Amino acid sequence: MSSLGVYIELKEGKVKKTNLELLTLAHQNGRAATAVIFAEEVNGYVEELGAYGVNQIIQVTGLDEAAWVGARAQKLAEIIKEQGLSDFVGTHSAHGKDMMPRVAARLEAPLATDCIGIDFEQGVATKPIYAGKVIAQVKLTGEPRLFTLRPNTITPEKAATATTPEVKTVTATVGTPLSQIKEIVKGVAGRIDLTEAQIIVSGGRGMKDKDNFKMLEEMADCLGAALGASRAAVDSGYATQDMQVGQTGKTVNPVLYIACGISGAIQHFAGMKTSKVIVAVNKDPEAPIFKKADFGIVGDLFEVVPVLTEELKKVMKGN
Ligand SMILES: Cc1cc2nc3c(=O)[nH]c(=O)nc-3n(C[C@H](O)[C@H](O)[C@H](O)COP(=O)(O)OP(=O)(O)OC[C@H]3O[C@@H](n4cnc5c(N)ncnc54)[C@H](O)[C@@H]3O)c2cc1C
Repeated sequence: MSSLGVYIELKEGKVKKTNLELLTLAHQNGRAATAVIFAEEVNGYVEELGAYGVNQIIQVTGLDEAAWVGARAQKLAEIIKEQGLSDFVGTHSAHGKDMMPRVAARLEAPLATDCIGIDFEQGVATKPIYAGKVIAQVKLTGEPRLFTLRPNTITPEKAATATTPEVKTVTATVGTPLSQIKEIVKGVAGRIDLTEAQIIVSGGRGMKDKDNFKMLEEMADCLGAALGASRAAVDSGYATQDMQVGQTGKTVNPVLYIACGISGAIQHFAGMKTSKVIVAVNKDPEAPIFKKADFGIVGDLFEVVPVLTEELKKVMKGN
C-alpha cells in the first residue's frame, strides 16, 4: 500500500499526542507515513517523527495557525493530489473538524469523521453515530479516502525501526480569506486538553456551587486529570464552557471518566460514552448514570469525593 498521509497539528510548537496516534496507526498497518506540517521551521520535529516511522515530511510555509483554514485546506488538497496519497488521516479535533471536510470537498473525496477504527484494506471506518447509540461501519469508495480519528483511540507506540524523514518544503499563500481568526483564547492554564485527556474528573449540577469544583480540582491534580462538567453545571455558572462534555460540548475518550453529581442524561453520555472505564458518584441510586457506569458509588459527593481523593493520594504516592 502507498504511504499514509498524516496531518500534523501543532500545539504551542509541539506535536500533539493525537498525531502520534495517527503515526502509530500508519506503522501498525505496515504503511510508511507522509507527515504534512504547516510551520515555518520543522527541523525540531524530524527526530520525533522519525521515531514513529515517518519517511517524508512535507513542510508548508506561509500559513500560520491564525491563517484562514480554507487556505490550508486548499494547499493540503493540492499536496494529497500531487503526492498521490490514497489515504489521508487527521485528528478529530476542533481544527480537524474544520479542516478535513473542506479538503474532502476540494478533492470531491469520501471522508469518514470521528473514527474509532479504520480498516484500510477494506476501506471501512468504524464510528459512533446518533450521539453514540449506534456504532456504524462506513465503507468509503473512491480515492483518496479521508478520515479523522477520535483522540485517545490508539496508544502511541514508536516504530520498530526509526527512520530519517526527508523534508520537502512548499510555500502557500493565504489568498483572500473568507473568514479570519481574531484571537486565540487559551483554556484553563496548566490543565490538560479535555479531548486528549487520559483521565477526566467531571462535575454536574450536584456540585451545587462554583467553589465546590475545587474539590474536583484536587482529585484531578492528584490523578493528573483534566476537569470536565455537564451542561447544567456550565449553565449554572459552576464551570466554564470549555469544560462542557456532551452533545453540544466536547467529545472525550479517556481511559477513566469520574462523574460526580451528574445524572447521566443522553446528551451528556453522547460526549463520554467511549470512555474505557466510567465511575459515577451520585446520591440517587436510580440516577441513569449508574446504568452506564462500570463502578458506582451511591452517596453524598461532599462526603465521598474527599475520602476518594485521600485514598487516591495514597495510591498515587505508592506509584
Ligand atoms: C439539545 C440539547 C443538548 C444538550 N447538550 C448537553 C451537553 O453537551 N452536555 C450535557 O452535559 N448536557 C447537555 N444537555 C443537557 C442534558 O439534557 C441534561 O440536562 C444535563 O446533562 C444535566 O446535567 P447534570 O447531570 O449535571 O444535572 P442533573 O440532571 O440535574 O443531575 C444532577 C445529579 O446530581 C445528583 N446529586 C445532587 N446532589 C448530590 C450530592 N450531594 N451528592 C451526589 N449526587 C448529587 C443528583 O442525584 C442528580 O442525579 C443538552 C440538552 C439538550 C436539550
